[in-house]
Amino acid sequence: MKKSLLIAAAALALCQATPASAKDLAVVASFTVLADMVHEIGGNHVTVRSLVGPNGDPHVYEPTPADGAALAHADLVFVSGLGLEGWMDRLISASGYKGKIVVASDGIGSRTMIDADDDDDAKAPDKAAGGGAAGKVITDPHAWNSVANAVIYATNVEKAFEAADPADAGLFKTNGDRYIGELTTLDAWVHQQISEVPAARRKVITTHDAFGYFGAAYGVEFRAPIGFSTEAEASARQVAALIDQIRKERIKAVFLENANDPRLIRQIAEETGAKLGGTLYAEALSAADGPAPSYVKMIRYNVALLKAAMLTN
Ligand SMILES: [Zn+2]
Repeated sequence: MKKSLLIAAAALALCQATPASAKDLAVVASFTVLADMVHEIGGNHVTVRSLVGPNGDPHVYEPTPADGAALAHADLVFVSGLGLEGWMDRLISASGYKGKIVVASDGIGSRTMIDADDDDDAKAPDKAAGGGAAGKVITDPHAWNSVANAVIYATNVEKAFEAADPADAGLFKTNGDRYIGELTTLDAWVHQQISEVPAARRKVITTHDAFGYFGAAYGVEFRAPIGFSTEAEASARQVAALIDQIRKERIKAVFLENANDPRLIRQIAEETGAKLGGTLYAEALSAADGPAPSYVKMIRYNVALLKAAMLTN
């Protein structure tokens, strides 16, 4: 009797001493693009929940009670930052989560613009409070659409995991190295694909201004009737200016986005006679059976669509 108890105790101690005893981390990421990167690096030591789901808009999101519960039990929380997740602070404080919040875009040189139309919509009270007469400086949150920036995201994610779970640091390093290698290859591929489009044709219209980092990295000019956040609405003046530009410059590449309202772009395409080039995945992955179920597949899909549309006469 006594002996079997001892054996059981020894077996238990052995179990706890094996590397597998490092407990799996429960991780929450704000949106699907980031959740995929976190999953790539966390591997099977991590369970990842994305708050905003596939095809969901990360700018405007209404958290559910299940989101709060997931945060309350999370070991680590990842956000993209640069003002993307305006709804996150309130959700985190309501959930009682007290752990680390990793900002995956840390260290990225951000793009900004002056919101010249700030006084056009004084309807949002928190916006009116920050709006000066000269227009407000706003930051572009869509940093992941440059693959070189995604390498910085991946590096930040890897470091955060190594700090949170030092026992598995070797595994996170292996996963991080492999994934960053994959991203580096992807970045070179995007440069190659875009370089095959004559510079004068590299003009694209999208639903909102989500491809600024992509455009700066690969040399494509993007215009949109709506700015950095889908919270804003396009003014009649902005839409008219864009229609003018499409006609004058004979822009052929006009795109919908999977996570945004398609009506305005459809209307613009109709008025200008531009053919729609398809649906880009700017800030939300597709479902698993869709064309963009991972970050790498999303970039490949977008680039193939963009290239085809820019080359169309
Ligand atoms: Zn966006």
